[in-house]
Amino acid sequence: MDYNQLEPKKVFAYFKNISDIPRGSGNEEAVAKYVFDTVTALGHKAVMDEANNVFVRAKAAPGYEDRTPIMMQGHLDMVCEANRSTKHDFLTDPIRLLLDGDRLHADGTTLGADDGVAVAVMLAILDSPELPRPELECLFTTDEETGLTGMRAFDPSCVKSRRMINLDSATEGEAIVSCAGGVRSHVYFPYETVPVPENYTVCTLSVGGLFGGHSGEDIHLGRTGAISAFARLLYAAQKVCDIRLTNITGGSRDNAIPRECSADAAVSDYAAFETAVRAEEAKIRAKLAADDEKFCVTLSPAAADAFLTAESSAKLVELLRILPNGVHEMDRLIPGLVETSSNLGVIRPAEAENTYEIVVLSRSSVESKIDDLEHRVECAALLAGGTFEHINRYPGWDFTVGSSLQQLFLDTYYNLFGRRAQILGIHAGLECGLLKNKVPDMDMISIAPNIRDLHSPDESLSVSSMARVWKLVCEMLKNA
Ligand SMILES: [Zn+2]
Repeated sequence: MDYNQLEPKKVFAYFKNISDIPRGSGNEEAVAKYVFDTVTALGHKAVMDEANNVFVRAKAAPGYEDRTPIMMQGHLDMVCEANRSTKHDFLTDPIRLLLDGDRLHADGTTLGADDGVAVAVMLAILDSPELPRPELECLFTTDEETGLTGMRAFDPSCVKSRRMINLDSATEGEAIVSCAGGVRSHVYFPYETVPVPENYTVCTLSVGGLFGGHSGEDIHLGRTGAISAFARLLYAAQKVCDIRLTNITGGSRDNAIPRECSADAAVSDYAAFETAVRAEEAKIRAKLAADDEKFCVTLSPAAADAFLTAESSAKLVELLRILPNGVHEMDRLIPGLVETSSNLGVIRPAEAENTYEIVVLSRSSVESKIDDLEHRVECAALLAGGTFEHINRYPGWDFTVGSSLQQLFLDTYYNLFGRRAQILGIHAGLECGLLKNKVPDMDMISIAPNIRDLHSPDESLSVSSMARVWKLVCEMLKNA
């Protein structure tokens, strides 16, 4: 493929260059050096910090010296996913680019348009001295995809701008203007065990077939989480017989709605247990979202030696029933946007002996609501005799009323393309939340060209959309 054919030429030339440099999360040093060397050779001032973030300052174009500066930002790292049939070493091999009509994609791997688009656009702008624009600050961050550690470590004292265009979303014609913050709360539930009581029936209870999805972006779809469904079944059954549980596992990642949950149970009256489980299952089934049509509850014979005591079993079920889960509140300014939610995402044996670990991921665009959810998780843990810890909290970004940057985006998009663009919020994290926390009066938007199937080997970038977004960014800088 001849990249010189693609427009805008400089953007695609830089995209090709960074695609040749492996840059999975945590492995950004080489690409950061490339960016640093490139912009320094172009005559700009740049610093590379200990986290390998690169911050660049470019003088205003002639005649634009009295305008206030503006900042652009995107992340250097990419998600590394390959098809099973594709041989690819993400530490050494370049991403092989393929063009299919308007779709630029990679040969069996993620493309890295998320967020290589931002890197290529910023480099192309820094390499275009003819573009009219104010003083420009460009921030290239690291490790967005796995821990936001680059932006966490970034020292904002060098930043002069109070307006920033982030280039890390995925849909043209939209600007994201609000995102959720979050926290992972780990609850540790210690228990005691006893041997199986005589005359108890031992079985495995499994909940499965649920659709799952992203715990932020899909939480409003009304899908059922497997752990909460599992707890509902057991709490109902607990009313009719004595139950002792063991080998409880559910969910795999805290940021995914759990699809499966199971445990072994020793029950005093199997017939009553089964009747109660099936009755509760019918209640859940009656209110399922269409995506969850494969929901199934299975009971099968099992064998196990030691079980939680009756008291520990009951307390654990009660804990799972009262931990916050699902949508709590919708945004008051942006229709359809979830403001606050929780995902009861994982239950598994903890590293400590005779302890279960339960993980709840809470999200909100309002900081005090995250505090509130932390407290609710704490209370549930304490009532159950457990302990808790909150990990990796990151701030959200609340909608700014009267933002001039939002207006500049809307006007410029309409003037260029004759279509109205939209502004919206997302119920997931963005680096903007962390930056807003460091520079509270920063006016920000997040925009991008059309990128499909992010984080998967099907990821593709629309070339024509990239060309429009390039025009849009140049025009916004001119009028900023
Ligand atoms: Zn990204």
